Amino acid sequence: MTSRSIAFAFSFCASLLWTGVAQAQTPYPVVRGKYYKFEKIADGVYYASPEFNGTAFPFGSNPFFGANLVVIVNPDDVVLVDSPTTPRAAHAILADIKRLTSKPVRTVVNTHWHYDHTDANSVFGPEVQIIAHDYVRQAIEKFDILNNEPFRSSTRNAPQAMIDRFTRQVAAEKDPSRKAALEKNLADTKVAAKEFAGDIKAIKPTPPNVTYSEKLVLHRGGREIQLLFLGRGHTGGDTVVFLPKERIVATGDLMESRLAYMGSAFFDEWIATLGALNRLDWAVTLPGHGVPFTSKGLVTAYQSYLRDVMAQVAKLRAQGVSADDAAKRVDLRSHAKDFPDIEAVGAEVRGIRRLYAWMDETGRK
Ligand SMILES: [Zn+2]
Repeated sequence: MTSRSIAFAFSFCASLLWTGVAQAQTPYPVVRGKYYKFEKIADGVYYASPEFNGTAFPFGSNPFFGANLVVIVNPDDVVLVDSPTTPRAAHAILADIKRLTSKPVRTVVNTHWHYDHTDANSVFGPEVQIIAHDYVRQAIEKFDILNNEPFRSSTRNAPQAMIDRFTRQVAAEKDPSRKAALEKNLADTKVAAKEFAGDIKAIKPTPPNVTYSEKLVLHRGGREIQLLFLGRGHTGGDTVVFLPKERIVATGDLMESRLAYMGSAFFDEWIATLGALNRLDWAVTLPGHGVPFTSKGLVTAYQSYLRDVMAQVAKLRAQGVSADDAAKRVDLRSHAKDFPDIEAVGAEVRGIRRLYAWMDETGRK
């Protein structure tokens, strides 16, 4: 692998992009837990991002914990949107949620089947409803998710990639105080990586115990929580969680504030599904990775990005270029103003391999 393709492989976890620089100021009030930062988006609605050494990852989430989650505190209970990557991470967020409320988590929504949104499902007892689209249950039962992508590359290798990066940074740093800070990061990362190796062994993929196909509405006191399947896209069964009164939508990885992993995608349907997302009356989106955003223009920009990937890759494929070579040659830098994680020519190889497979499946050219 080239260093660029490694960077793409881990941009799914954003681990290589983390430089220890504090994230931009959030406009929302913040409650800090031990492991998670909670941004209060509306009354009882919190956006939870795992932190590392008290600092968020600028374009994504902490590889040791997984996705950013949404905590919805209702009159009698808590609805949690997504479960993190490992049982230990789930215990961490459950402990941190106690800083917000003493009410129990009685409902978990998995926005899609990927490990960083489902792998802590086993922590929740039978009294907790774990709800997802029908496809998520089938995927967890059939896909052997711990031996396949995206888990295989993104999770198993991410901690060592962080260690390698910090080791290089320590060696290159001349300023003594910055060097000391980087050395602390490196030491902490090594400890976390060791713990994480044990955490991975504790994962027991657990499917949702309630599934739906198009729409499911939860009523909690005066709050309406809509679970909507708007069409295939990032995966075959992405749920968006829409709070119509608060005008908040949680999108999982169907729409992030950065580039999403494309390795399970249905490309043209994704563009259409993003159109349906923008037809909802939302004022703020809470994505599975990245940061909250308020602009429907970002969704439109992501549709343009997907169209461009599809067009460029179709051309390369027609010339007989392999998927892996196409991933090195596709040039998406014109989208960097909307998605600053695009730093060079090329695209994440698993996404381009999937695009080739999808073209084979659908007969697209
Ligand atoms: Zn994710």
